[in-house]
Amino acid sequence: PEDSGLDEAAARHRWTELAEEIREHQHAYYVRDAPTVSDAEYDALMRRLEALESAYESYGLRTPDSPTQVVGGVASTDFAAVEHVERLMSLDNAFSLEELAAWSQRVRRDLDGAGAELHFLCELKIDGLAIALLYEQGRLVRAATRGDGRTGEDVTPNVRTIAGIPHRLVGDDVPERIEVRGEVYFPVADFEALNAARVAAGEAPFANPRNSAAGSLRQKDPRVTASRPLRMICHGIGGLVWTGHETATARQSETYRLLASWGLPVSDRVRVVDDLDGIRAMIDFYGEHRHDVEHEIDGVVIKVDEVALQRRLGATSRAPRWAIAFKYPPEEVNTRLVDIKVGI
Ligand code: NAD
Repeated sequence: PEDSGLDEAAARHRWTELAEEIREHQHAYYVRDAPTVSDAEYDALMRRLEALESAYESYGLRTPDSPTQVVGGVASTDFAAVEHVERLMSLDNAFSLEELAAWSQRVRRDLDGAGAELHFLCELKIDGLAIALLYEQGRLVRAATRGDGRTGEDVTPNVRTIAGIPHRLVGDDVPERIEVRGEVYFPVADFEALNAARVAAGEAPFANPRNSAAGSLRQKDPRVTASRPLRMICHGIGGLVWTGHETATARQSETYRLLASWGLPVSDRVRVVDDLDGIRAMIDFYGEHRHDVEHEIDGVVIKVDEVALQRRLGATSRAPRWAIAFKYPPEEVNTRLVDIKVGI
């Protein structure tokens, strides 16, 4: 409705304006760790761009480099560039239970009978920043941010200071090489104290725990990172090379147990469910208990648990088809941003 009845030139003009605005917000968020709009406002701009591309399909606005088609991060030149072993992706979003139901139907349809054994792995969507840890012969050799998904930022010395990230994996079945993906976060309980200290030191406070995690990790001086109580939780793997005799796990939930056995931090809040009712129960529970969790959450991520089915479903240019992020309606994110602006 907002963008209806446009001729081609007007639609292109609107597209360019929106795409530029989104890219500016991405720069503020990913490079400066200082967003200028709330996540809900950003999501609304993205939805509007998607709607525009769909409404004017024949004008070919949906180019491969459109913000709707790429992983939205940017790698800052303040850090050495790192090529990821395997691409790090984003997630598609569902903003309602109807959208979620449509996704699960699409999954079943695309699996076309092969999904008889389908289970859903439900996890909290940790509001932090993505990290890829490369372990070779069990040793942590490199840690990188997501960046644009192909090229990230080398933050290895900083990551080595994070409590709970092992420098060495333990166990007889540790693979030759594995890239462990997860989220670095700033515990909510420590966030207010950090901001109070920043304000007292004459520095700008962080907008929210997510940005404080990103700002704390992406430091030139690892000693600053070391002074911040960052934590990490694993939520995936890539680039796995076994030493020979081990067998790959058939379910992502089993992979988490394996990672835990090697000493990596995994969440004890994941649930494996059979159907949409089970997914809904998780969403309802954490909708109510959102603030009882040690890190901030902005939704629930639902994944197909069977690794073989994940492979069958594959991915688009920016996100896997076997996972989706259900996002809770915004609440304190908005007010916090406003509060802090007022506070300055
Ligand atoms: P996303 O953050 O919505 O989802 C993808 C990311 O979720 C993954 O990269 C992963 O790191 C993370 N994640 C957290 N828990 C996970 C779990 N359990 N399993 C798997 N992944 C998990 O998408 P995005 O592309 O990274 O970023 C877009 C989002 O970032 C926006 O929706 C908005 O919330 C925020 N953003 C805000 C601004 C702003 O200006 N306010 C700008 C850019 C992006």
